[in-house]
Amino acid sequence: MTEVKAEIEERFGFFPPFFAPALDRPAVLENLWQQTLRSYVGNRLPPLLLERAFAVLSRYCDVPYCVVCHSCALRPMGMSTQQILQLLDGPRGLPGADEAVAVLSAAPAGTPQWAQPGPVADAALRAVVSMFLRDSDRSRLAAALRRVLPAADVDELVLFLGYVTTCLEWVEAHPELSYEADLRAITHLGPMLAEDPALGDFFADYTHRRTVTLTGREAALTAQAEEAEQRFFLIFEHAPIGMVIVDLQGRFVRVNRALADMLGYEPTELQAMTFAEISHPDDVDTGSQAIQDLIAGRIEVFQQEKRYRCARGLWMWARVSAALLHTADGSPVHVITQIEDVTERHEHAEQLAAANAELRRSNQDLEEFAAIVAHDLNGPLTGILGHAALLAEELPGDTPASTRDLLTRITTVGGAMAVLINDLLAYARAGTETLQMQWVDVDALIGELLRDLKPHLDAAHAEVRVAPLGSVCAHPTQLRQVLANLITNAVKYTATDVTPIVEITAVEYDDDIIFTFADNGLGIPPDDTETIFHMFHRAHHDAAPGTGVGLAICQRIIERHGGTIWAEARPNGGSLFKIRLPRYPTGAAHRTECSPPPPAVRGISRPPNPLV
Ligand code: ADP
Repeated sequence: MTEVKAEIEERFGFFPPFFAPALDRPAVLENLWQQTLRSYVGNRLPPLLLERAFAVLSRYCDVPYCVVCHSCALRPMGMSTQQILQLLDGPRGLPGADEAVAVLSAAPAGTPQWAQPGPVADAALRAVVSMFLRDSDRSRLAAALRRVLPAADVDELVLFLGYVTTCLEWVEAHPELSYEADLRAITHLGPMLAEDPALGDFFADYTHRRTVTLTGREAALTAQAEEAEQRFFLIFEHAPIGMVIVDLQGRFVRVNRALADMLGYEPTELQAMTFAEISHPDDVDTGSQAIQDLIAGRIEVFQQEKRYRCARGLWMWARVSAALLHTADGSPVHVITQIEDVTERHEHAEQLAAANAELRRSNQDLEEFAAIVAHDLNGPLTGILGHAALLAEELPGDTPASTRDLLTRITTVGGAMAVLINDLLAYARAGTETLQMQWVDVDALIGELLRDLKPHLDAAHAEVRVAPLGSVCAHPTQLRQVLANLITNAVKYTATDVTPIVEITAVEYDDDIIFTFADNGLGIPPDDTETIFHMFHRAHHDAAPGTGVGLAICQRIIERHGGTIWAEARPNGGSLFKIRLPRYPTGAAHRTECSPPPPAVRGISRPPNPLV
């Protein structure tokens, strides 16, 4: 025991009264001394920082021994009485938490700056105080400080803070300890009080000042929190959309006016209810599952369109977004939900769907009617034409020319009617026939088609130039019909003194292929480029006979293939008809798989069509 006492005396040049209460318990004295040696005297942090920290932290001790002794210890280290007073006098001496974090974050890591008095050291000290008090700023301040301090210094700081805690507890356990017997106070307190009597006032009153500082801070924090809460509830109450705070069991905790109005209840009535009570039975499960997912952290927000029963018994469609509210320590406490009335939009969508279904149904009826009529007319008409032909053969030689003329007219008009009926049947078939998609070699298809059309093309002296066209997934006979219509039209709508030239090209994109039919014919009046695809619409009535059904058939076929068809006038005369088809089957039109897989593309052009 005497050894330890002697060691202490030797080290300090006196025996600090701090150790006196342990003199009769050697183990305690030994322990206190070892802690002092390791964590304070032998601490590798700069002594000035340790002493400043000790003085400041001693303010949180009710016995003045430490605050006086460690303040006095700062004087021989070069601090003036005024600087010491300023340091002790609470927040005025140190930067605020935000400022300290900013200073520490801007300081280069591992810098020795913080060891010298100055802004970095003050910020470090502010962090040390926060860590000691374990206040709400401590984690960000400690993180900022750890970034600047070398790792070994962080450990030293931890030991030091533990030691200060021991000292302050020890001193409070021995309130009889008097600083007047401590050499540091004996040497420096008198001159310091002479230099600035305010220091005496501080020591006399420091516990009160500390309380004021602490309570002031707490009060400020509480006021801030209250203000934020008030602001939140102001927004909550007056939000134009429904808002509700729900507990984790789905009970309404607070409901805003907009939601109450939306559902036709009083807020107090709603507060006695749960989501499950007003939700549509089909939506209850998804709603409670979503709350479980939020609580478990599987999702961060939840959005759904669901139905709520209003007070009047009607169902309202709502778009619901929910998120979890947490307490300060991160545990889930409430779910905050925003509710928007989207009933009108839903009703519109439903009306639109109903109208579309009705339109589809009446179109189908019309088509079926046209198909039946065409089919039923076809038989008698074939009979009429057949009998007219027989009659023509059997007419006696002296039949008057006027009678022969009438018979010819019956055959001509009947023939035109047969063409129209065929077109109508083709149109109906184009809409109803099941698409049997397969890879179609368009080059081969065109070759075959041109052979079939040869007599017709030769009669018109037409020239058809075909570039490589590749392959597409399509219903072969329907695609053939489109190509045939476009080629025959191109030849048909050409001035009589012009040799028809039709150029067919293709450009392949990643997912689409565009076929272009360019001709040197009559062209299309600008107002008619869209209407020529309508049923019975003809832009050139006198140029050639026709029914006005061919392009409507083409459009129907192409659209059922998921593509588009359109016409353009060529700047120097003639027309362009273009077909865009998806190269691979997509969407409802292509439920049937295309097989076999596409053959390799042969020489099809990729750059823009030079004819366009
Ligand atoms: P139709 O040829 O029986 O009249 P279509 O539906 O095939 O019926 O064509 C509709 C109209 O589009 C035609 O009457 C014609 O006015 C115009 N048209 C079609 N193809 C061409 C073309 N290549 N050049 C100019 N006009 C065309």
